[in-house]
Amino acid sequence: MGSSPIQLVELGDSHVLTELRLSLIGKILNPKKQNDEKLIQYMINKWGMEDRITANDLGNGKFLFNFTSEEDIKEVLRQGPFHYNYCMFVLVRWEPIVHDDYPWIIPFWVQITGLPLHLWNVDNLKRIGGRLGHIDTMELEEGRMLIDIDSRKPLQFTRKVTLGDKEVTIQIAYDLLFRHCSTCGRLTHEKEYCPVVKEEPRAQIPSKRAGVFARVQVPHGHYDRQPLQRNQSLRDREHDRQVDVLSRQTDVSRTRDNRDIYQGTHMNQKQRKRRVWDQARGMLFPTSTSQTTSLS
Ligand SMILES: [Zn+2]
Repeated sequence: MGSSPIQLVELGDSHVLTELRLSLIGKILNPKKQNDEKLIQYMINKWGMEDRITANDLGNGKFLFNFTSEEDIKEVLRQGPFHYNYCMFVLVRWEPIVHDDYPWIIPFWVQITGLPLHLWNVDNLKRIGGRLGHIDTMELEEGRMLIDIDSRKPLQFTRKVTLGDKEVTIQIAYDLLFRHCSTCGRLTHEKEYCPVVKEEPRAQIPSKRAGVFARVQVPHGHYDRQPLQRNQSLRDREHDRQVDVLSRQTDVSRTRDNRDIYQGTHMNQKQRKRRVWDQARGMLFPTSTSQTTSLS
């Protein structure tokens, strides 16, 4: 069968694997605005590691940065999430993952506002964060979580949460998020290039011609769907599992690293006040005292 997949083998070459453990793999997300060759050069200069990093262009907008020390890798990773030419790109530790889309995770510090104060607890933040991605770190008092966001999916900026039959809308903010599509929430393009048909009702085509146009019209939400999403879910889970294993090994240092850079700098006084205000505002809407909490 000429078209059946070609089976590969793994040689278990530990030398190669060990070398790759000191690599970060990256992927541009917005090909209209980002050129991977320029990105590689720019980032190496920006990090000031010209003499200590080599890079490989892997094609398909993917690239590899090879480091010589774990310290340099950490130094770079704590500067994430990453952007080039005002658009985000993926950059994570290399892992032995076999998938066309790999890599796709961007760890974002995510800030929740609008949650009624009396519902502000670890359980509820976990319920909310868990819907956005794998939660790496949670800071209850700051009201923020480090979440592995799947860059292939649209970002979610609001979400309805319910307590019993009462409902409130929370806002989700992503720290250091650069340009993205304000129509569909994806990182792969900006609004003017959005392929998603706007939800506004389209001008009704006279009934006589409707049949012709209906056949050629792109169905609503067509682009919004993840092709292969169902088939991928298993592999995604496998990836999540692998990320879990890896993050367990690196969580402690990573958390500390991230705190150093994020605390104070990106959560200024004004933002804190706004969060408290948002929470207080959330309380103005009476919520039922029912004990069960569920999220839509
Ligand atoms: Zn869009």
